[in-house]
Amino acid sequence: MAVATEGPNGAERFHGSHFISSMPMRDLVRVLNPLPPEKVLEAAESLRYRDFLLVGLIINRKDVCPDNWIYVHDPEVRVGRIQNFKNWSPAMVPDLEQTSLGMEYFVFENDDLWSSPDSELIDLARREVEHLRLARADEISDGVVIRMPKAYPIYDRDWEQHVATIRSYIEINLPNLQLVGRNGMHRYNNQDHSMMTAIYAARNVMGARYDLWKVNSEAEYQEEQTESHHASGRPAYAEPARVTPIPEGES
Ligand SMILES: Cc1cc2nc3c(=O)[nH]c(=O)nc-3n(C[C@H](O)[C@H](O)[C@H](O)COP(=O)(O)OP(=O)(O)OC[C@H]3O[C@@H](n4cnc5c(N)ncnc54)[C@H](O)[C@@H]3O)c2cc1C
Repeated sequence: MAVATEGPNGAERFHGSHFISSMPMRDLVRVLNPLPPEKVLEAAESLRYRDFLLVGLIINRKDVCPDNWIYVHDPEVRVGRIQNFKNWSPAMVPDLEQTSLGMEYFVFENDDLWSSPDSELIDLARREVEHLRLARADEISDGVVIRMPKAYPIYDRDWEQHVATIRSYIEINLPNLQLVGRNGMHRYNNQDHSMMTAIYAARNVMGARYDLWKVNSEAEYQEEQTESHHASGRPAYAEPARVTPIPEGES
């Protein structure tokens, strides 16, 4: 088994004994060679994603609001959430006399917002921030647009079945390929979960036999014992010895 890539060095081929994929499941299935059977291709093509667009605004004011994020439900604006980055950490802005707001729009790739020129999106965000009375338009000194495709794997009616079809094909036909991460496993989970699946995948490369699909949305291995939590309720990553490997022969 090998991975073929196109990069700064041109076309390359990497042979190996273990492979870990964090690319979206749909894209992975599309590039397998040979292609899997029609049923698996159809399952992959049926996976759907919600895309995301952020307009970052620089505001010439030290304090805009005390929140670090605000969910917006006003039908008169299209912004869905606003991040105030400085309130997560002062290290997230270069100048503490200013405020950086992330105006977040939940979109589909190629819809009207996605396809709008950056200048129009910055104008929209400027109008909306004023409409929401967070800042005046004339306080905004600059803006930037970031488009993030496949930000959210969609859980529609049949997604579990599609994932099961792809997973079972890979487990049987490509047992040295492990799927990890958010889109890699089509799981709407956070960074902790993504990293935990990758950590267990690395342990599998070293000879362990963990079932990565048992890492749940709290980024805990489901067979992990409850006392492995800190008082904060966060999983205790430093205690891998408590994790029970699945028995040989079980998948
Ligand atoms: C707007 C937003 C806010 C979020 N907020 C939080 C939060 O507050 N807290 C939190 O814990 N999590 C948050 N998350 C989730 C977190 O970002 C993800 O769970 C995490 O980044 C997923 O890590 P990953 O390694 O699975 O995927 P990614 O970080 O997306 O890495 C996948 C990588 O694969 C690459 N790739 C894709 N396709 C190919 C290909 N065909 N070939 C080669 N490379 C490819 C991509 O370029 C990317 O570098 C947020 C996500 C979004 C979109």
